[in-house]
Amino acid sequence: MKITEHIKKAKGKTLFSFEIIPPQKGRNIQELYNNIDPLMEFKPPFIDVTTSREEFVYIEKEGLLDRKITRMRPGTVGICAAIKHKYNVDTVPHVLCGGFSKEETEYLLVDCHYLGINNVMALRGDAMKHQRYFEPAKGGHLYAKELVLQIQNLNKGKYLHDVIDVDDKADFCVGVAGYPEKHVEAPSLQSDLRRLKEKVDAGANYVVTQMFFDNEKYFNFVKEAKKAGINVPIIPGIKPVSVNRHLQLLPQVFKIDLPEALIIEMEKCQNNRQVRQVGVEWCIEQSKELLAAGVPVLHYYSMGKSDNIQAIAREVF
Ligand SMILES: Cc1cc2nc3c(=O)[nH]c(=O)nc-3n(C[C@H](O)[C@H](O)[C@H](O)COP(=O)(O)OP(=O)(O)OC[C@H]3O[C@@H](n4cnc5c(N)ncnc54)[C@H](O)[C@@H]3O)c2cc1C
Repeated sequence: MKITEHIKKAKGKTLFSFEIIPPQKGRNIQELYNNIDPLMEFKPPFIDVTTSREEFVYIEKEGLLDRKITRMRPGTVGICAAIKHKYNVDTVPHVLCGGFSKEETEYLLVDCHYLGINNVMALRGDAMKHQRYFEPAKGGHLYAKELVLQIQNLNKGKYLHDVIDVDDKADFCVGVAGYPEKHVEAPSLQSDLRRLKEKVDAGANYVVTQMFFDNEKYFNFVKEAKKAGINVPIIPGIKPVSVNRHLQLLPQVFKIDLPEALIIEMEKCQNNRQVRQVGVEWCIEQSKELLAAGVPVLHYYSMGKSDNIQAIAREVF
């Protein structure tokens, strides 16, 4: 079922969902199942699976460093299929512009279509670590909007290069990213919202937000998005802090602010076990307020271990 259909079917009841990251290459999928199992009691209608960009690794060879390219967490579509069939739940693979040509993206989408995966998140991806600005792969997309258009073309039965007769159209529901604190490269929130509107006009069916720790940022974003003519569901994505290092890491990686009250509580902690508890409590409060505001879905960034998400969901759902 499509995400938008799940939302419609819920008739105003807030749904629970979460995002997982594929295991590192060489690790076992069982690890992933062990973290999904405890969350299934909250009946998520869908689970997102991220995609990681390729990266460079340096291998020493005869005293010199040989640069190789690798993908440390491959397998997004395979994991989606495995989870879909094991738990009978919809899965949403994240599809990236970065590192993929349009042809490779088409093959990936065809795989999804054959596997009965009919929801995808269309994302640009970040620049590679050595790049200052995002650069598309040769023959790839520069912005997520172009990826949305490619997916919508498949929904119309329009494959790349138009060399085939089509009797089977895809039917993807497409999610895109939104940024309550604006995307780091956007000159202003309003300009970012105009870009978001372009993605929706290109055919995006719903938006999932970047994590935020102050609900006012989300409420303001939804209000401004409506003013900008964006009328698709805007799903809040939230995450409990779990280690002291998040104080620096989250602002650095995700370009978001932490509220003063949360920072003070984290700074009082003697160890990461206490930080994890602060994260759970903060996230419960955030979740309850968002739930009371009638958000369509509470979408949690689980990032590995799920005991904290389970503790939050027990209090909220
Ligand atoms: C819910 C969610 C899930 C994510 N999942 C993943 C994942 O699985 N893997 C991963 O690598 N990353 C993921 N990301 C991160 C995302 O890839 C990065 O934030 C990336 O930098 C931007 O992606 P986007 O799809 O928002 O890009 P876009 O929508 O293309 O926007 C990128 C920037 O370009 C600007 N822009 C858009 N169109 C134009 C234009 N025509 N001209 C000039 N500027 C323009 C926008 O304002 C924005 O600043 C996720 C982010 C979110 C919020």
